[in-house]
Amino acid sequence: MWTTKPCQVTEQFNPGDHRGGPGVSIPAHLARGGLNALLTFLLSPACAACRSLLKTPLDGPVCRACWRAVRPITPPMCERCGDPLPSWRMVSYGAAQCARCHRAPRSIDRGRAIGEYDGALRQIIHVLKYEGRQSIARQLAGLMSEHGSDVLTGADWAVPVPLHPRRERERGFNQAAELARYLNLPVCFALQRVRHTAPQVDLPASRRHANVRGAFRVAPESRWFFGHRRRVADLSNACALLVDDVTTTGATLDACARVLKNAGVAEVRALTAARVVRRRFSPPSP
Ligand SMILES: [Zn+2]
Ligand SMILES: [Zn+2]
Repeated sequence: MWTTKPCQVTEQFNPGDHRGGPGVSIPAHLARGGLNALLTFLLSPACAACRSLLKTPLDGPVCRACWRAVRPITPPMCERCGDPLPSWRMVSYGAAQCARCHRAPRSIDRGRAIGEYDGALRQIIHVLKYEGRQSIARQLAGLMSEHGSDVLTGADWAVPVPLHPRRERERGFNQAAELARYLNLPVCFALQRVRHTAPQVDLPASRRHANVRGAFRVAPESRWFFGHRRRVADLSNACALLVDDVTTTGATLDACARVLKNAGVAEVRALTAARVVRRRFSPPSP
């Protein structure tokens, strides 16, 4: 049972509003604008996503136009995995689930993402993940909070999907953990990836479940994670929120959810920055 395997968690982070609060005074705003202009003039920085001139470098390495270009997934969507449904008529099939969830029940109870893994959102995730710009995790997590309120509400812990230690060493960080820090939930490093797996995006859908089978287990109590402060928590009967940057078929999230539920977690939800959306829709058979 989970009670025999408490997990380690970080202390809760309170990043505040990533867009600036109402307390910013007009002189401070003007000073910030002047400093932005000076930095742009002196350094000519480029947006890390679209490579155009970055006019507000103090806001981070991605320009405002790129953030505004992120297209969120909007209802109607599958209440299970969060995939967009082609029309509200799908909801009338009963469970308001997509064909994939209807065919194969999932271990994830509910999943949500900001938007489709495409366009500006894909570029922004690449900036975080492959260019190592961890400073944008806070802004990206702000969007995840905005569009994932129905999975965040009532969740007890954020559980980052772990990388294999080798990959984490190569990258220097786990992007899922960076995002989890800013969701206003205590972070619990409850899982460990014990087998190195090929990236899911490189595999056909038919091989993704096999690729991650047996790849995760509950993390031992003594695991250390890059100097984050930890304390012991009990996740038995809790509601855990898995956090990752991208989900493809959901095979990785399902594998993680199975491990958590076998360990006594009552409900497992998922929140990702983006999800790969299938273009072809087919209604579930009645
Ligand atoms: Zn840009
Ligand atoms: Zn679904």
